[in-house]
Parts: sequence; structure tokens; C-alpha cells
Amino acid sequence: MSQQEAFATQRPYQQSWIQRLITPLRRPGKRWQGGLKLKDYKSLSNGQPIKRHALANSVLSVPVGNGRTSATPCVAVGQQLKKGDVIAHGDHSTPWVHASTSGRVTAIQTAYLADRDSEVVCIQIEADGRDEWCKLQPGNPPRNAEELSVFAMQMGLVGLGGAGFPTGIKISGAQQPDMLLINGAECEPFVTCDDRLMRERADDIIRAADYLASALSIQTARIGVEPNKPEAIKALQHAIRQRTSTVEVHTLPHRYPAGGQPMLIRSLSGRKLATGMLPAEVGVFVLNVATLYALGRAVFHAEPLVTRIVTLTGHVHKPGNLEVPIGTPVADLLREAVPHADNNGVQVGGPMMGHLLTQPKAVTSKTCGCLIVRSTQFFPARTQASDCIRCNRCIDVCPMALKPLKLYEAYQRQDGMTLQQEQLNACIECGACSEVCPSNLPLRDSFREAKKIVVGSARQ
Ligand code: SF4
Ligand code: SF4
Repeated sequence: MSQQEAFATQRPYQQSWIQRLITPLRRPGKRWQGGLKLKDYKSLSNGQPIKRHALANSVLSVPVGNGRTSATPCVAVGQQLKKGDVIAHGDHSTPWVHASTSGRVTAIQTAYLADRDSEVVCIQIEADGRDEWCKLQPGNPPRNAEELSVFAMQMGLVGLGGAGFPTGIKISGAQQPDMLLINGAECEPFVTCDDRLMRERADDIIRAADYLASALSIQTARIGVEPNKPEAIKALQHAIRQRTSTVEVHTLPHRYPAGGQPMLIRSLSGRKLATGMLPAEVGVFVLNVATLYALGRAVFHAEPLVTRIVTLTGHVHKPGNLEVPIGTPVADLLREAVPHADNNGVQVGGPMMGHLLTQPKAVTSKTCGCLIVRSTQFFPARTQASDCIRCNRCIDVCPMALKPLKLYEAYQRQDGMTLQQEQLNACIECGACSEVCPSNLPLRDSFREAKKIVVGSARQ
């Protein structure tokens, strides 16, 4: 089997449905070039309010790490817990971990994380169904970046947009930014958890934004939202008026990947994040809107991060958004969504950057925001890859102004030098190039692999 054939059979996300619906933007946009207009499928799941997941008979596996770092468990099997109790101590680089519901510890063992596609140590809690909080004692909010950084680590805060980077570390590396940029783009098709959060909890979000701007001594705070979320924009604007806040709501370009960090920074601040630069180096502090909400709950209500909103959508009878305790089995959530019998598996994350669930016993983590039950309508069978026809469509759509076809050729040759020269490290793995490629080449997946070659050649 050739390399192309192997990719064609292995790659989970089938693209032909999207190829029919996209309109590649051939001219540079106002602020950043490339990107795709995608059919968003948001209306499948964004019409209903967020519901709480029923916990009866649930056994949760709360991860104490993310595969790279791990907190140290501080509970014993048999111990009774309340929701919010500390169950693993972190340190300067690892956030603390808390019980995501009340119940009894039944095991400390590995479990498979749906969105990380790997096994990590988890603390298993048999839910008692009461979901009873421990005694929460809100104190005075941290006054500056130093205090807030320590506090964020102790409250288990991580980026909820997908990366899961510890918020405390981000705050400690902020380097006196002059702009707070809040990412409410949610540009991946199907995903609506941030949309519902902004519609329903806009006041908490704006309060948290005001607080964070003040704690970091930032004058300007902006939220970027795509125009396909008019209710969310309205709710945020209403909250801003009610609170007489100076936070600004900005409409982002309606094209994928508007929420990618370099694109968001360009759209909201006009500043360009060059390859290898951190947002702090251009004077901005970027936070996903759900992370900001969680920070507000921690600061004003003393609630550690123990739940997140998960979109359940695709080929199901009951799509919607559920507020889910961290560590909930994916199978429990799918039971609530009721998949159609003729489904083709489950996509974890969005269709562009997510992956096919391989372990039915997987559990959710803090970064698992969407489960899409696949069907042939949403994910049609992928056709065989063929040779590059030099159409340049991949170049037109790349938001990082890369040359995907050159990168792909260099990857095939295992040519680390050319991969570096062509700035592989700037690739944000958005998958836009793969979606428009008429030859069906596995560009994005190749670039993920290629980064290992570049790291290897840099070490030599
Ligand atoms: S996956 Fe990488 S190369 Fe392809 S369009 Fe996105 S940023 Fe460009
Ligand atoms: S889109 Fe595909 S076929 Fe066209 S130039 Fe790029 S890699 Fe080649």
C-alpha cells in the first residue's frame, strides 16, 4: 500500500461533503488572508438552553494530568468526597484537580481521554447523585497577576478552547499586555458550546472580563464573535450596557479559522503574530470565552473548574449542549443524545481539527467540548488520494500564507531542511488546505507528522 493510500484509509474525517459546500476565498481578506466559508451546522444544536447532565449511576474518571504533566493524587480509595474537594495537588506547572461531583472514590487507575486520544491516571468517583458542593468560601479576588496566577493553578483552570494550557502559567507570562482579547469565535462547524454560554451567561463573562482587565492593568478588552451568533452578540452587548463596562464586542470575519490565535489577534488588535512569537510579545493577553467564564466562577464564587459544556450533535435524536462534570464517560453522554442506529462512529471535537473516537470507554476532560455522531451525510466516504495537480487552492486558503504543496512534497522526501525553510512551524493545523485539495491529499495530517521530522533535524 502506498503512503497516499494508507492515509486515505486511515484518516477519519471524510471531506467530500465539505468540498461541495465551501467557497474558497481567493483574495486576501481585510486583515488576514485565506480561510474558508464552511456550512456550519450550528442550528442542529444551538436552539436549546444548556442542560445539566443527570448523574444517576454515573462513575466518573477525573484525570489528574493531560499526558504531559500530572498532579499528585491526595485521596484514598473509599474516601467520601464533595464536589469541589481537592483530589490531586499540582505545582508551579500543573493545575490542581478537584472532585467533579459528590460521591466515593472507587479506584485510582488509568482511563482513556476522548479528546487527548491517550490514557492518563484518573481518580474514579462513584457519584452519589446529590452533586453536593463542598463548603465554598469566596474571599477577596486576587489583586494582581502574581496572586491571580497562583489562584488559577489552585482552582484547576486551563484553556477550555482545546489546548488545555494552564491559565495560571499564561497569566504569569503575560508581560504587561495592553489588550485583553477574548475568543468567542467558535469557528468550527457543528460546535455550539461557547455560543450557548455567551447567550445564557453573558453577565458572568463581562464581569470576569472587567475583573481580569483590572487585575492585569489592561485598558482595552475586546471580545471577538463570528456573525453567525447574533443572539450571543446581543446578550454580550446587553450585559456590557447593564454593567456599564468598557469591554467591546467585535464581529470577526465569518470564515474558518477566524478563532485561530494569529487570526483572532490580527482581527481584534491589527497586530501580526509572526512565526514563533507568543501573544505576550505583541502586547496582548488572549483567553477563550469559556475559560474566562470559569475564571469568573472561581474568583467570585470560589468554584474550581469541575464542569464544562459539551456540544452533542450530528446524527442524533436529541442534539444540544450539556453541562458535564469532568471525567464523565462518553457513553453516558451519547445515551442522552440518542444516536441514530445507522451512525458511523463519533467525532471528538469539530470536523476540521477533531478526530474519530477510537475507545468506546473514553471519558471527557476539561478540553473535550464537542461530540459529533457521524453519518454518511455529514462525513461521506473519502475518495482515494491522487497526484497533486498544481491548482494552488491550498495556497489560496492557507491563513498562515504557507505553501502546503511544497510542505507536502518536502514531507514525502523527509526533507527537514526544506520543511523549516517553508515555515512548517507556522502551520496551525487548521486543515483548510486538506479540505480544498481536489487530489484529496492528506496535507494537514502530513504536517502533524512532519513537525516530528523538523524537531528531529533541529536536534542533529
Ligand atoms: S493546515 Fe497548515 S498549511 Fe494547511 S491551511 Fe492550515 S495552516 Fe495552512
Ligand atoms: S490543493 Fe492539492 S492538488 Fe492543488 S496544489 Fe495543493 S496539494 Fe496540489
